[in-house]
Amino acid sequence: MADPITDTDNLSPVERYKLAREARRVAPAQTLPTVPEITEDTLWRGLTREGEVRILVVRATEAVHQATQRLGCSPAAAKLVGELMAGTQLLRACLNPDEQLQLGSKNAGSAGNFVVDSYAEGHMRATVRNPKATLDDGLLVGNGTLQVARTRPGRSTYRSAITMEHDDIDGLLMRYLMESEQILSLLRLDVQVTPEGTVEHALGFLVQLMPEGTKEDLGCLVNNLETLPELSTGMTADDPDAMGWANALMSGLYWDQAARQDVGFFCPCSAERVLTLLSTLPQSDLQELADGGEPLESTCDYCKTTYTVPLDQLQALMASPS
Ligand SMILES: [Zn+2]
Repeated sequence: MADPITDTDNLSPVERYKLAREARRVAPAQTLPTVPEITEDTLWRGLTREGEVRILVVRATEAVHQATQRLGCSPAAAKLVGELMAGTQLLRACLNPDEQLQLGSKNAGSAGNFVVDSYAEGHMRATVRNPKATLDDGLLVGNGTLQVARTRPGRSTYRSAITMEHDDIDGLLMRYLMESEQILSLLRLDVQVTPEGTVEHALGFLVQLMPEGTKEDLGCLVNNLETLPELSTGMTADDPDAMGWANALMSGLYWDQAARQDVGFFCPCSAERVLTLLSTLPQSDLQELADGGEPLESTCDYCKTTYTVPLDQLQALMASPS
């Protein structure tokens, strides 16, 4: 007897199309061809076949290590900065491809105000006012305001703000997503720093129930999360994308790993930018700087590069006011 599923000879073109479509829908997850080594920072995203659920996974270990070493962070501050950097990168990846995202704080706790920039190319940088703060100093973030700025080239910046509570960065960013995007999101960050300040890993993931998502999809995720191991245990040298872990999280959903982006530490500061900034100062301020009789030294808050502006360049700026 003919098998109605595999024997397609007797089927109409429409029926055949429907069968092929169903086979595609339930096929195992497609994965991206080249997987970077576990030592390389990356962000990959996946999507269910009907667009119901989105998943993003970031590894920013090296970027966070670089940023926190430059800032001279205590282990506690390095963990905070790492969570902010990995989280900002996940949030930025949900925006338009050319969009830039900045998270800043006002009236933060013992670590002082922070700024984290995430650029379209996967570049990121961070600074914090008091990088030596420890947990003995009280809450690092505390109760302040988180300020979020989204910028696209050639367009005006879109700003929003929400209150910060405690040091729970996962919760803070999830609340931001809920309030600003009205998308049900689960975001978890996992940053591990040794007592010597070495960043062992800086990871995070974001799962979102898109408008196409159903109660059943949500139920699936909630069930899977109950037994889901930490991302850091699933991300190994043999499985740098943590696909085994991701399949466990997305179990019951039909999905594909869809795209990848390199991420890394990068500060766009330069000697030219210092001069441009100086050229916006009033003549009297420039005169005061030149009267000091010393070259001007300016250190970047993010990467700690020091730029020296010689006296003759300061004088040239005064001679050619902008
Ligand atoms: Zn810099």
